[in-house]
Amino acid sequence: MNTREWLEKLVSFDTTSRNSNLQLIECVRDALAAQGARVELMHSPAGDKANLFATLPAADGRTEGGIVLSGHTDVVPVDGQQWNSQPFVLTERDGRLYGRGSCDMKGFIAAGLALVPEYKAMPRAKPLHFALSYDEEVGCVGAPVMLKELQLRGAKFDGCIVGEPTSMQVVVANKGINVHRCRVHGRAAHSSLTPSGTNAIEYAARLICRIRDIAEHFKERGPYDEFFDVPFTTMTTNQIQGGIAVNTIPELCEFVYEFRNLPGMSAERIQGEVDAYVQTELLPRMRKEFADARIDIEIGANAPAFDASEDAAITQLVRALTADQHKRKVAYATEAGLFLNMGIPTVVCGPGSIEQAHKPDEYVDIEQLESCERFLRKIGQSLV
Ligand SMILES: [Zn+2]
Repeated sequence: MNTREWLEKLVSFDTTSRNSNLQLIECVRDALAAQGARVELMHSPAGDKANLFATLPAADGRTEGGIVLSGHTDVVPVDGQQWNSQPFVLTERDGRLYGRGSCDMKGFIAAGLALVPEYKAMPRAKPLHFALSYDEEVGCVGAPVMLKELQLRGAKFDGCIVGEPTSMQVVVANKGINVHRCRVHGRAAHSSLTPSGTNAIEYAARLICRIRDIAEHFKERGPYDEFFDVPFTTMTTNQIQGGIAVNTIPELCEFVYEFRNLPGMSAERIQGEVDAYVQTELLPRMRKEFADARIDIEIGANAPAFDASEDAAITQLVRALTADQHKRKVAYATEAGLFLNMGIPTVVCGPGSIEQAHKPDEYVDIEQLESCERFLRKIGQSLV
């Protein structure tokens, strides 16, 4: 199958993160295995989803080293979006291919899969690998399962390309993302008897204001990295729930906040500032009212920041092949930091624009797919 046929196939599987991706994964597994690749699946704990890791060995059969092509197979929902064509039917209009995931990021995967027969025919000195994950869009949940397994067996790779949509330009850094869910447990009471209750919403509000204060501190004092569109670490509360009635002191207030840390800023240290405020100021004050008051903070979706080395061979190779020397850093999270933290030099480069990702009428330009094909062919040739 060529790139377009592969893309049509991949888009036809509704792999919205809440669904299983197994049909897509098994289709890719069968196609790769039929072409002589070594393929294995690493399933989710519940077993309803899987990562796929495949190797096209070098000409001499070697499987160590080489380059990993990485992509996530899940897509964001189309719920409530107005589409001009069926989101899971690849549709061409005006030189563009429309469909959910066409840009983010099944286009890259399709181009890689279409090249497998060529890759096989190349007398490569190094292997090529595919690493396809599940549940990236809900916070890079799937890839760690695969990477842990690879790490356990001591797998070594020379470099990794994460094909997120960058308009085929080189992205050398992204911020981390850290989502936290906070539950403030107070004590209910009739609201005419305020002294006998402990108002969970009011204490949550204090904590939310403190999070905002920390965010403003980053904005005003840095650290800064001017290569990012938002050049400082951000922190924001985006969801809240609490209270059951107008005349009842709320027992529970629950909210979700996130922070996006610049590379080099420790996520643990940032969260440490929140924890310190809770432990030394907020909770002691709450417990004066109610000894059993509690504040529970649980970490949710998270992915580490990513910062590529310009000296790494993979960075130089991708820069040379794309003729792109620009230092481009992005605020959105990718799986690149996970690969880098495993000791694999990584860059982000893929077809389509992030502008089209996640939107109704998501599309990838056919010209972008062609450029990705040429790029990935040269990646294979670089291993000869
Ligand atoms: Zn993506």
